[in-house]
Amino acid sequence: MDSSNPPTFSIRCYCSAVSLKAEAAPSSVVDCHCGQCRRLSGAAFTTWASFPRTAIATTGDEPLRSFAVTANVTRYSCRVCGSHVFTADVRLPTILGVPAGALEGAALSPPSVHYFVDHKAPWQTICDGQPQFGGESGMTPSAASCADPGDT
Ligand SMILES: [Zn+2]
Ligand SMILES: [Zn+2]
Repeated sequence: MDSSNPPTFSIRCYCSAVSLKAEAAPSSVVDCHCGQCRRLSGAAFTTWASFPRTAIATTGDEPLRSFAVTANVTRYSCRVCGSHVFTADVRLPTILGVPAGALEGAALSPPSVHYFVDHKAPWQTICDGQPQFGGESGMTPSAASCADPGDT
């Protein structure tokens, strides 16, 4: 890839008070089915895009509110509308996790993996053929639970 011309995304909250530029290809795009991600999004799961921290420009003037979920993880949201716009983890100091639903601009690669599938919402069926990981860690290889409609 031509590093002088990275894809450009914007990370925009629901009310548009927060609009951040992210100039890089995400290093990963994953679906996380853990309970935190479900509550955070209000949806069945969160699709996360990981960006190099240096690729996301903040001016310091954005109306951001931070919430320290744990000693390691801090989530940032719009102070006006409450949309989650990115998460920082001190254990992963070079990246920021961005909820993919907040992204627009360049085309995002589809998610390549599912994590925490044993914690997924009971109404969710994962049938896209991508690798699945579960167990207590959320990262143990897990057999896909998708029933093949042709098997009945
Ligand atoms: Zn907002
Ligand atoms: Zn999660």
